[in-house]
Amino acid sequence: MSLFAILKSSGTQSGRLTDRSFDQCLKCTACSSQCPVAAVRPDYPGPKQCGPDGERLRLKSPDFLDEALKYCTGCKRCEVACPSNVRISDIIAAARTTYGDQKFKVREFMLSHTDLMGTLTRGSAPLVNKMTGLKPVKLLLDKGLGVDQRRQFPPYAKTSFRKQFETVAGSQQQYARQISYFHGCSVNYNMPELGMDLVRVLNAMNIGVRLLKKEKCCGVPLVANGFPDKARKNGTLNIASFEQAMTEGSEGILSTSSSCALMLKDEYPHVLGLDNSKVQSNISFITRFLAHEFEAGNKPKMKPVNLKVAYHSPCHLIKAGGVLHTLNVLWEIPGLELQQLNSNCCGIAGTYGFKKENYETAQAIGSPLFKQIEESGADYVVTDCETCKMQVEMSTSKKVLHPLELLRMALVD
Ligand code: SF4
Ligand code: SF4
Repeated sequence: MSLFAILKSSGTQSGRLTDRSFDQCLKCTACSSQCPVAAVRPDYPGPKQCGPDGERLRLKSPDFLDEALKYCTGCKRCEVACPSNVRISDIIAAARTTYGDQKFKVREFMLSHTDLMGTLTRGSAPLVNKMTGLKPVKLLLDKGLGVDQRRQFPPYAKTSFRKQFETVAGSQQQYARQISYFHGCSVNYNMPELGMDLVRVLNAMNIGVRLLKKEKCCGVPLVANGFPDKARKNGTLNIASFEQAMTEGSEGILSTSSSCALMLKDEYPHVLGLDNSKVQSNISFITRFLAHEFEAGNKPKMKPVNLKVAYHSPCHLIKAGGVLHTLNVLWEIPGLELQQLNSNCCGIAGTYGFKKENYETAQAIGSPLFKQIEESGADYVVTDCETCKMQVEMSTSKKVLHPLELLRMALVD
Protein backbone atom coordinates (compact mmCIF):
# COMPACT_ATOMS: atom_id res chain seq x y z
CA MET A 1 0.00 0.00 0.00
CA SER A 2 1.35 3.44 -0.85
CA LEU A 3 2.13 6.02 1.75
CA PHE A 4 -0.53 8.28 0.22
CA ALA A 5 -3.17 5.60 0.42
CA ILE A 6 -2.17 4.61 3.93
CA LEU A 7 -2.28 8.15 5.18
CA LYS A 8 -5.62 8.79 3.51
CA SER A 9 -7.17 5.62 4.82
CA SER A 10 -5.75 6.16 8.29
CA GLY A 11 -7.94 9.23 8.76
CA THR A 12 -4.82 10.76 10.29
CA GLN A 13 -5.61 9.83 13.88
CA SER A 14 -6.70 6.23 13.66
CA GLY A 15 -3.20 4.83 14.06
CA ARG A 16 -3.71 2.46 11.13
CA LEU A 17 -0.46 3.52 9.47
CA THR A 18 1.27 0.31 8.50
CA ASP A 19 4.29 1.78 6.73
CA ARG A 20 6.26 3.02 9.66
CA SER A 21 9.63 3.86 8.17
CA PHE A 22 9.60 6.99 10.35
CA ASP A 23 9.86 4.67 13.36
CA GLN A 24 13.30 3.62 12.16
CA CYS A 25 14.69 7.12 12.80
CA LEU A 26 17.82 7.03 14.94
CA LYS A 27 17.80 10.81 15.44
CA CYS A 28 21.32 11.03 14.07
CA THR A 29 20.55 14.22 12.06
CA ALA A 30 22.62 13.01 9.08
CA CYS A 31 19.65 13.98 6.87
CA SER A 32 19.56 17.55 8.14
CA SER A 33 23.24 18.06 7.39
CA GLN A 34 22.58 17.21 3.71
CA CYS A 35 19.40 19.21 3.13
CA PRO A 36 20.02 21.97 0.57
CA VAL A 37 16.90 23.89 1.64
CA ALA A 38 17.79 23.92 5.34
CA ALA A 39 21.22 25.26 4.37
CA VAL A 40 19.77 28.40 2.77
CA ARG A 41 16.43 28.92 4.58
CA PRO A 42 16.63 29.39 8.33
CA ASP A 43 12.81 29.07 8.51
CA TYR A 44 12.86 25.50 7.10
CA PRO A 45 13.05 23.04 10.02
CA GLY A 46 14.86 20.38 7.97
CA PRO A 47 14.16 16.75 7.07
CA LYS A 48 14.30 15.20 10.54
CA GLN A 49 11.77 17.61 11.97
CA CYS A 50 9.54 17.75 8.87
CA GLY A 51 9.80 14.01 8.21
CA PRO A 52 9.92 11.45 11.05
CA ASP A 53 9.53 13.87 13.98
CA GLY A 54 6.67 15.77 12.36
CA GLU A 55 4.92 12.59 11.24
CA ARG A 56 4.48 11.37 14.81
CA LEU A 57 2.77 14.65 15.66
CA ARG A 58 0.65 14.74 12.48
CA LEU A 59 -0.68 11.28 13.27
CA LYS A 60 -2.02 12.70 16.51
CA SER A 61 -3.58 15.68 14.78
CA PRO A 62 -3.31 17.19 11.29
CA ASP A 63 -3.20 20.57 13.05
CA PHE A 64 0.49 19.88 13.56
CA LEU A 65 1.07 20.28 9.82
CA ASP A 66 3.84 22.84 9.43
CA GLU A 67 3.35 25.20 6.47
CA ALA A 68 7.13 25.09 5.94
CA LEU A 69 6.81 21.59 4.44
CA LYS A 70 6.07 23.32 1.14
CA TYR A 71 9.71 24.38 0.93
CA CYS A 72 10.96 20.78 0.58
CA THR A 73 12.21 20.30 -2.99
CA GLY A 74 11.86 16.50 -2.98
CA CYS A 75 15.55 16.19 -3.89
CA LYS A 76 15.90 13.06 -1.70
CA ARG A 77 19.40 13.94 -0.55
CA CYS A 78 18.12 13.34 3.01
CA GLU A 79 17.11 9.78 2.05
CA VAL A 80 20.53 9.12 0.52
CA ALA A 81 22.17 10.29 3.77
CA CYS A 82 19.85 8.36 6.10
CA PRO A 83 21.53 5.25 7.57
CA SER A 84 18.16 3.82 8.58
CA ASN A 85 16.17 3.89 5.32
CA VAL A 86 13.62 6.41 6.52
CA ARG A 87 11.69 7.61 3.45
CA ILE A 88 11.85 11.20 4.61
CA SER A 89 11.09 12.95 1.33
CA ASP A 90 8.13 10.65 0.61
CA ILE A 91 6.75 11.19 4.13
CA ILE A 92 6.91 14.96 3.61
CA ALA A 93 5.30 14.75 0.15
CA ALA A 94 2.49 12.54 1.46
CA ALA A 95 1.88 14.81 4.44
CA ARG A 96 1.59 17.84 2.16
CA THR A 97 -0.90 16.11 -0.10
CA THR A 98 -2.94 14.52 2.66
CA TYR A 99 -3.15 17.28 5.26
CA GLY A 100 -2.31 20.37 3.22
CA ASP A 101 -4.46 22.85 1.36
CA GLN A 102 -6.52 20.83 -1.15
CA LYS A 103 -7.84 23.82 -3.12
CA PHE A 104 -7.43 23.70 -6.89
CA LYS A 105 -4.66 26.05 -8.03
CA VAL A 106 -4.27 27.15 -11.66
CA ARG A 107 -0.50 27.55 -11.37
CA GLU A 108 0.00 24.06 -9.97
CA PHE A 109 -2.28 22.62 -12.65
CA MET A 110 -0.39 24.37 -15.46
CA LEU A 111 3.06 23.45 -14.17
CA SER A 112 2.19 19.80 -13.59
CA HIS A 113 0.04 18.83 -16.59
CA THR A 114 2.99 18.72 -18.97
CA ASP A 115 1.28 16.36 -21.44
CA LEU A 116 -1.70 18.66 -21.78
CA MET A 117 0.42 21.82 -22.12
CA GLY A 118 2.58 20.14 -24.77
CA THR A 119 -0.50 19.06 -26.73
CA LEU A 120 -2.07 22.52 -26.53
CA THR A 121 1.04 24.17 -27.94
CA ARG A 122 1.22 21.74 -30.87
CA GLY A 123 1.33 23.74 -34.10
CA SER A 124 2.02 27.03 -32.37
CA ALA A 125 5.39 26.41 -30.70
CA PRO A 126 7.21 29.43 -32.23
CA LEU A 127 4.41 31.77 -31.13
CA VAL A 128 4.21 30.26 -27.62
CA ASN A 129 8.01 30.49 -27.24
CA LYS A 130 7.95 34.13 -28.28
CA MET A 131 5.04 34.93 -25.96
CA THR A 132 6.56 33.29 -22.87
CA GLY A 133 9.74 35.33 -23.41
CA LEU A 134 7.91 38.69 -23.53
CA LYS A 135 8.22 40.91 -20.48
CA PRO A 136 4.48 41.79 -20.18
CA VAL A 137 3.57 38.07 -20.38
CA LYS A 138 6.17 37.21 -17.75
CA LEU A 139 4.84 39.98 -15.52
CA LEU A 140 1.28 38.73 -15.97
CA LEU A 141 2.28 35.17 -15.04
CA ASP A 142 4.19 36.51 -12.04
CA LYS A 143 1.49 38.79 -10.64
CA GLY A 144 -1.48 36.71 -11.72
CA LEU A 145 -0.31 33.16 -11.09
CA GLY A 146 2.83 33.34 -8.99
CA VAL A 147 5.25 32.04 -11.64
CA ASP A 148 8.41 34.04 -11.06
CA GLN A 149 9.10 36.47 -13.91
CA ARG A 150 12.87 35.81 -13.70
CA ARG A 151 12.40 32.13 -14.65
CA GLN A 152 12.96 31.18 -18.28
CA PHE A 153 10.57 28.66 -19.82
CA PRO A 154 12.00 25.79 -21.86
CA PRO A 155 11.16 26.35 -25.54
CA TYR A 156 8.70 24.00 -27.25
CA ALA A 157 9.92 22.19 -30.35
CA LYS A 158 8.23 22.75 -33.71
CA THR A 159 7.87 19.02 -34.32
CA SER A 160 7.31 16.52 -31.50
CA PHE A 161 9.62 13.57 -30.99
CA ARG A 162 6.84 11.08 -31.79
CA LYS A 163 6.35 12.81 -35.13
CA GLN A 164 10.09 12.91 -35.86
CA PHE A 165 10.42 9.24 -34.94
CA GLU A 166 8.07 8.35 -37.82
CA THR A 167 10.96 9.08 -40.23
CA VAL A 168 13.05 6.25 -38.71
CA ALA A 169 10.36 3.89 -37.40
CA GLY A 170 10.41 1.66 -40.48
CA SER A 171 14.17 1.09 -40.34
CA GLN A 172 14.07 -0.16 -36.74
CA GLN A 173 12.72 -3.59 -37.77
CA GLN A 174 16.08 -4.57 -39.32
CA TYR A 175 17.66 -5.02 -35.87
CA ALA A 176 17.33 -8.37 -34.16
CA ARG A 177 17.34 -6.73 -30.75
CA GLN A 178 14.46 -4.35 -29.94
CA ILE A 179 14.11 -2.03 -26.96
CA SER A 180 11.26 0.31 -25.95
CA TYR A 181 11.76 3.98 -25.21
CA PHE A 182 9.76 5.97 -22.66
CA HIS A 183 10.54 9.43 -24.06
CA GLY A 184 8.66 11.48 -21.45
CA CYS A 185 7.15 14.95 -21.92
CA SER A 186 10.38 16.86 -22.09
CA VAL A 187 11.79 14.89 -25.04
CA ASN A 188 8.46 14.78 -26.84
CA TYR A 189 7.64 18.47 -26.63
CA ASN A 190 10.89 20.31 -25.84
CA MET A 191 13.97 18.26 -26.78
CA PRO A 192 13.04 15.81 -29.59
CA GLU A 193 16.64 15.82 -30.82
CA LEU A 194 17.67 13.97 -27.64
CA GLY A 195 15.26 11.17 -28.52
CA MET A 196 16.68 11.04 -32.03
CA ASP A 197 20.20 10.83 -30.53
CA LEU A 198 19.08 7.80 -28.54
CA VAL A 199 17.90 6.15 -31.76
CA ARG A 200 21.21 6.92 -33.54
CA VAL A 201 23.35 5.62 -30.66
CA LEU A 202 21.34 2.42 -30.14
CA ASN A 203 21.19 1.74 -33.89
CA ALA A 204 25.00 2.07 -33.97
CA MET A 205 25.00 -0.72 -31.37
CA ASN A 206 22.69 -2.85 -33.52
CA ILE A 207 19.65 -2.30 -31.34
CA GLY A 208 16.31 -1.13 -32.74
CA VAL A 209 14.08 1.33 -30.89
CA ARG A 210 10.32 1.03 -30.41
CA LEU A 211 7.94 3.56 -28.97
CA LEU A 212 5.32 2.46 -26.48
CA LYS A 213 1.83 2.23 -27.97
CA LYS A 214 0.70 4.69 -25.30
CA GLU A 215 2.57 6.69 -22.72
CA LYS A 216 1.65 9.48 -20.31
CA CYS A 217 3.68 11.82 -18.11
CA CYS A 218 5.50 9.66 -15.54
CA GLY A 219 3.83 11.61 -12.72
CA VAL A 220 6.76 13.44 -11.09
CA PRO A 221 5.32 16.97 -11.55
CA LEU A 222 1.81 15.75 -10.70
CA VAL A 223 2.92 14.35 -7.34
CA ALA A 224 4.98 17.46 -6.57
CA ASN A 225 2.01 19.74 -7.30
CA GLY A 226 -0.75 17.88 -5.48
CA PHE A 227 -2.31 15.67 -8.17
CA PRO A 228 -1.56 12.14 -6.88
CA ASP A 229 -4.75 10.62 -8.35
CA LYS A 230 -3.86 11.82 -11.84
CA ALA A 231 -0.29 10.56 -11.34
CA ARG A 232 -1.69 7.17 -10.32
CA LYS A 233 -3.91 7.07 -13.42
CA ASN A 234 -0.94 7.87 -15.67
CA GLY A 235 1.19 5.30 -13.88
CA THR A 236 -1.42 2.58 -14.36
CA LEU A 237 -1.48 3.27 -18.10
CA ASN A 238 2.32 3.36 -18.33
CA ILE A 239 2.74 0.06 -16.49
CA ALA A 240 0.18 -1.61 -18.80
CA SER A 241 2.15 -0.27 -21.80
CA PHE A 242 5.41 -1.60 -20.38
CA GLU A 243 3.86 -5.04 -19.81
CA GLN A 244 2.52 -5.06 -23.35
CA ALA A 245 5.93 -4.04 -24.76
CA MET A 246 7.64 -6.88 -22.89
CA THR A 247 5.14 -9.47 -24.15
CA GLU A 248 5.75 -8.19 -27.70
CA GLY A 249 9.46 -9.01 -27.53
CA SER A 250 11.02 -5.81 -26.25
CA GLU A 251 14.20 -6.29 -24.21
CA GLY A 252 13.30 -3.54 -21.77
CA ILE A 253 12.16 0.02 -21.28
CA LEU A 254 14.65 2.89 -21.36
CA SER A 255 14.31 6.46 -20.12
CA THR A 256 16.66 9.35 -20.87
CA SER A 257 15.41 11.38 -17.88
CA SER A 258 16.88 10.52 -14.48
CA SER A 259 13.75 11.74 -12.66
CA CYS A 260 11.28 9.86 -14.92
CA ALA A 261 13.37 6.69 -14.51
CA LEU A 262 13.34 6.93 -10.71
CA MET A 263 9.57 7.42 -10.73
CA LEU A 264 8.79 4.60 -13.16
CA LYS A 265 11.07 2.07 -11.54
CA ASP A 266 11.21 2.86 -7.82
CA GLU A 267 8.49 5.31 -6.87
CA TYR A 268 5.44 3.80 -8.54
CA PRO A 269 5.16 1.13 -5.86
CA HIS A 270 6.00 3.03 -2.70
CA VAL A 271 4.83 6.56 -3.54
CA LEU A 272 1.77 5.78 -5.68
CA GLY A 273 0.97 2.24 -4.55
CA LEU A 274 1.17 0.87 -8.10
CA ASP A 275 2.28 -2.67 -8.80
CA ASN A 276 5.08 -2.54 -11.38
CA SER A 277 6.65 -5.81 -10.20
CA LYS A 278 6.19 -7.58 -13.56
CA VAL A 279 8.35 -4.97 -15.36
CA GLN A 280 10.34 -3.23 -12.63
CA SER A 281 13.59 -5.02 -13.43
CA ASN A 282 13.14 -4.19 -17.14
CA ILE A 283 13.03 -0.40 -16.61
CA SER A 284 16.39 1.31 -16.86
CA PHE A 285 17.91 4.75 -17.07
CA ILE A 286 19.81 4.95 -20.37
CA THR A 287 23.36 5.12 -18.97
CA ARG A 288 22.81 2.03 -16.81
CA PHE A 289 21.82 0.11 -19.92
CA LEU A 290 24.71 1.51 -21.96
CA ALA A 291 27.31 0.86 -19.23
CA HIS A 292 26.25 -2.80 -19.11
CA GLU A 293 26.30 -3.08 -22.92
CA PHE A 294 29.76 -1.49 -23.13
CA GLU A 295 31.02 -3.85 -20.43
CA ALA A 296 29.65 -6.80 -22.42
CA GLY A 297 31.61 -5.57 -25.48
CA ASN A 298 28.78 -3.91 -27.43
CA LYS A 299 30.24 -0.45 -27.96
CA PRO A 300 29.58 1.75 -31.00
CA LYS A 301 32.60 2.76 -33.08
CA MET A 302 33.72 6.12 -31.71
CA LYS A 303 35.96 8.92 -32.85
CA PRO A 304 37.61 11.40 -30.47
CA VAL A 305 35.52 14.22 -29.00
CA ASN A 306 38.16 16.74 -27.99
CA LEU A 307 36.18 18.71 -25.45
CA LYS A 308 36.51 19.52 -21.77
CA VAL A 309 33.23 18.86 -19.97
CA ALA A 310 32.12 19.29 -16.35
CA TYR A 311 29.68 16.64 -15.08
CA HIS A 312 26.85 17.55 -12.70
CA SER A 313 25.13 14.56 -11.08
CA PRO A 314 21.37 15.14 -10.61
CA CYS A 315 19.82 14.45 -7.18
CA HIS A 316 17.45 11.76 -8.47
CA LEU A 317 20.24 9.87 -10.25
CA ILE A 318 22.23 9.93 -7.00
CA LYS A 319 19.16 8.51 -5.20
CA ALA A 320 18.86 5.77 -7.85
CA GLY A 321 22.55 4.89 -7.50
CA GLY A 322 23.18 5.60 -11.19
CA VAL A 323 25.97 8.20 -11.23
CA LEU A 324 28.74 5.64 -11.75
CA HIS A 325 26.93 4.28 -14.83
CA THR A 326 26.98 7.73 -16.43
CA LEU A 327 30.64 8.21 -15.54
CA ASN A 328 31.49 4.76 -16.94
CA VAL A 329 29.82 5.73 -20.23
CA LEU A 330 31.51 9.14 -20.44
CA TRP A 331 34.93 7.63 -19.64
CA GLU A 332 34.56 5.48 -22.78
CA ILE A 333 34.40 8.51 -25.11
CA PRO A 334 37.88 9.00 -26.61
CA GLY A 335 39.42 12.45 -26.27
CA LEU A 336 36.87 13.66 -23.72
CA GLU A 337 38.35 15.52 -20.74
CA LEU A 338 35.92 14.93 -17.89
CA GLN A 339 35.75 16.93 -14.70
CA GLN A 340 33.39 15.84 -11.95
CA LEU A 341 31.74 18.75 -10.20
CA ASN A 342 31.22 18.57 -6.47
CA SER A 343 27.52 18.55 -7.24
CA ASN A 344 25.16 20.10 -4.80
CA CYS A 345 21.53 20.30 -5.82
CA CYS A 346 21.07 22.81 -8.66
CA GLY A 347 17.96 24.12 -6.87
CA ILE A 348 15.28 24.00 -9.56
CA ALA A 349 13.76 20.67 -8.49
CA GLY A 350 11.41 20.33 -11.46
CA THR A 351 8.64 22.88 -11.12
CA TYR A 352 9.72 24.07 -7.63
CA GLY A 353 12.00 26.85 -8.90
CA PHE A 354 9.28 28.26 -11.15
CA LYS A 355 7.21 29.34 -8.16
CA LYS A 356 7.60 32.90 -6.96
CA GLU A 357 7.96 31.93 -3.31
CA ASN A 358 10.74 29.45 -4.16
CA TYR A 359 12.75 31.32 -6.77
CA GLU A 360 15.27 32.91 -4.38
CA THR A 361 15.69 29.60 -2.52
CA ALA A 362 16.28 27.72 -5.77
CA GLN A 363 18.95 30.18 -6.91
CA ALA A 364 20.62 30.26 -3.47
CA ILE A 365 20.78 26.43 -3.42
CA GLY A 366 22.30 26.36 -6.89
CA SER A 367 24.77 29.21 -6.46
CA PRO A 368 27.81 27.11 -5.27
CA LEU A 369 27.28 24.85 -8.29
CA PHE A 370 26.99 27.80 -10.68
CA LYS A 371 30.27 29.21 -9.28
CA GLN A 372 32.07 25.90 -9.78
CA ILE A 373 30.78 25.72 -13.34
CA GLU A 374 31.94 29.23 -14.20
CA GLU A 375 35.37 28.50 -12.72
CA SER A 376 35.69 25.07 -14.38
CA GLY A 377 36.96 26.28 -17.74
CA ALA A 378 34.81 23.55 -19.32
CA ASP A 379 33.46 23.83 -22.86
CA TYR A 380 30.16 22.28 -21.77
CA VAL A 381 28.37 21.02 -18.69
CA VAL A 382 26.98 17.48 -18.86
CA THR A 383 24.01 16.22 -16.88
CA ASP A 384 21.30 13.56 -17.12
CA CYS A 385 18.33 15.70 -16.04
CA GLU A 386 16.30 18.08 -18.20
CA THR A 387 15.42 20.49 -15.40
CA CYS A 388 19.03 20.66 -14.12
CA LYS A 389 19.89 21.59 -17.72
CA MET A 390 17.29 24.41 -17.65
CA GLN A 391 18.59 25.73 -14.36
CA VAL A 392 22.29 25.63 -15.28
CA GLU A 393 21.74 27.19 -18.72
CA MET A 394 19.66 29.97 -17.17
CA SER A 395 22.09 30.64 -14.32
CA THR A 396 25.51 30.23 -15.96
CA SER A 397 27.18 31.04 -19.27
CA LYS A 398 27.46 27.33 -20.24
CA LYS A 399 25.42 25.15 -22.55
CA VAL A 400 24.42 21.79 -21.06
CA LEU A 401 24.56 18.46 -22.88
CA HIS A 402 23.04 15.08 -22.07
CA PRO A 403 25.55 12.15 -22.05
CA LEU A 404 23.74 10.81 -25.14
CA GLU A 405 24.51 13.99 -27.08
CA LEU A 406 28.24 13.45 -26.46
CA LEU A 407 27.95 9.82 -27.52
CA ARG A 408 26.18 10.86 -30.71
CA MET A 409 28.98 13.37 -31.38
CA ALA A 410 31.49 10.50 -30.96
CA LEU A 411 29.76 8.16 -33.44
CA VAL A 412 31.70 7.29 -36.56
CA ASP A 413 29.26 7.97 -39.42
S1 SF4 B 1 13.95 16.02 0.03
FE1 SF4 B 1 15.65 17.50 -0.14
S2 SF4 B 1 14.72 19.47 0.45
FE2 SF4 B 1 13.30 17.86 1.15
S3 SF4 B 1 13.90 17.49 3.28
FE3 SF4 B 1 15.02 16.00 1.99
S4 SF4 B 1 17.01 16.97 1.60
FE4 SF4 B 1 15.61 18.60 2.32
S1 SF4 C 1 19.19 10.50 8.81
FE1 SF4 C 1 17.50 9.04 9.04
S2 SF4 C 1 17.88 8.16 11.06
FE2 SF4 C 1 19.10 10.03 11.00
S3 SF4 C 1 17.73 11.65 11.84
FE3 SF4 C 1 17.44 11.66 9.63
S4 SF4 C 1 15.66 10.30 9.34
FE4 SF4 C 1 16.46 9.88 11.38
